[in-house]
Amino acid sequence: MANGSSHVVIVGGGFAGLACARKLATSADVRVTLVDKNNYHQFQPLLYQLATSELSTSDVATSLRQCLRGHGNVDVKMLEVTAVDPKTRTVTTREGESYQGDFLVLAAGSQANYFGTVGAEENAFPLYSLEDAQRLRSRILAVFEDADCDPKLVDQGALNFVIIGGGPTGTEMAGALADMVNFTMRAEYPDLAVKYARVYLIDHGHTLLGAFPAKAHDYAAQTLQQKGVQLRLDIGVKEVAPDHVLLSNGTLIQTRTAVWAGGLTASPLAANTSLPLGHGGRIAVKPDLTVEGFPGVYVLGDFGNIPGPDNQALPQLGSVAQQCGEWAAENILSEAAGRPRIPFQYNDKGIMAMIGRDSAVAAIGNKRHELDGPIAFAAWLGVHALLMSGVRERIEAFIDWGWNYFGRFRPTQVLDRSDESRIHWQDGTDGER
Ligand SMILES: Cc1cc2nc3c(=O)[nH]c(=O)nc-3n(C[C@H](O)[C@H](O)[C@H](O)COP(=O)(O)OP(=O)(O)OC[C@H]3O[C@@H](n4cnc5c(N)ncnc54)[C@H](O)[C@@H]3O)c2cc1C
Repeated sequence: MANGSSHVVIVGGGFAGLACARKLATSADVRVTLVDKNNYHQFQPLLYQLATSELSTSDVATSLRQCLRGHGNVDVKMLEVTAVDPKTRTVTTREGESYQGDFLVLAAGSQANYFGTVGAEENAFPLYSLEDAQRLRSRILAVFEDADCDPKLVDQGALNFVIIGGGPTGTEMAGALADMVNFTMRAEYPDLAVKYARVYLIDHGHTLLGAFPAKAHDYAAQTLQQKGVQLRLDIGVKEVAPDHVLLSNGTLIQTRTAVWAGGLTASPLAANTSLPLGHGGRIAVKPDLTVEGFPGVYVLGDFGNIPGPDNQALPQLGSVAQQCGEWAAENILSEAAGRPRIPFQYNDKGIMAMIGRDSAVAAIGNKRHELDGPIAFAAWLGVHALLMSGVRERIEAFIDWGWNYFGRFRPTQVLDRSDESRIHWQDGTDGER
């Protein structure tokens, strides 16, 4: 490894941490240690496509070493950080290692926030990591396989899928799952009454895609209803059990597949940093992406509340994380060279969500010019392909999308998590979780 003058320790190889490492890697003045509990960078926006067998694992995850190949000044360590001392900029790992830097970048992302909903943490399937998506895919395939062998299970809710949360994650998941049921499963399970499959989307608000312009709310609702999705808006979830979801109006929906897309909080590491936490359990960050009172400590992406132009925290988006990762790298290089840090300026290119085959909504730029339908669908494909970490992932994803689009079958329908397939239908419990 090259021996640079400043050592930067980065925790988390997601959008923010990886963008920061990549930018720093081009400078001979620093050496970087990137610590992540996994050996891969995961592409969260496409996890729902992994869960619904549209894409394969290698389309949505890339080895961090491969992402940073050719940069001798970057060292990747697969370790889980359990504690942070921001005064000395030292991190300690579960495995007992510790790393101290002249600069410390914390970018450990987020996890599901169940808001205390009874049984949700134990029984719902979150969708925030590669492992979550693989488990969910196996559960979806397992209920079809079990019901195919024993059709009576349909009466026990085997083919009911309940998605909790009508933001982009829940809406995209509902669209993809409805397409999977309508196009793929009907063809592949001719002996099974797939017509009785139901996809429910529940939200306590009265619209879907709350962060989008009003037209997108109606477009999303209509599109999903055309695909057969049952919308339950203005209703909360009271309880998630292994075999049902109980709504706040007393309705009980039998299901073995409740998907949690109901909200985010910072990764648990945030609570072990002794840094001030704000909304969503995220670390309070100054406009230049550092933390008040802790020189050399930067907090990025979903792990912090990154202030926007009106001093409101920016949303938890891949584009915010990626841009602030690059910005933090510039500020670190400036600091190391004795130049001042510059406040982060987010270049808001807009937001978009896919609602299944040929359907998407986009609100482009900070003026939020609206697009929907096939044009937005094409824009969604292009933007997400560009965001992917490598050329191989882009090519593979387009091949899988092509098979799915023209062939209407899912190339990656593999039940590879046997733990999720062990459903104890008789006693209302599940296999090991
Ligand atoms: C299902 C889903 C769909 C989304 N869709 C979109 C979209 O369409 N467009 C968009 O812009 N954004 C989208 N987002 C949001 C976007 O993915 C996040 O804002 C972005 O990933 C945040 O980047 P990050 O680097 O802060 O965190 P992450 O990408 O979550 O990366 C955090 C990294 O930290 C590592 N880590 C965590 N804890 C530790 C620890 N203790 N020790 C070591 N390593 C640790 C993790 O392994 C991970 O690699 C979506 C998010 C989800 C979950």
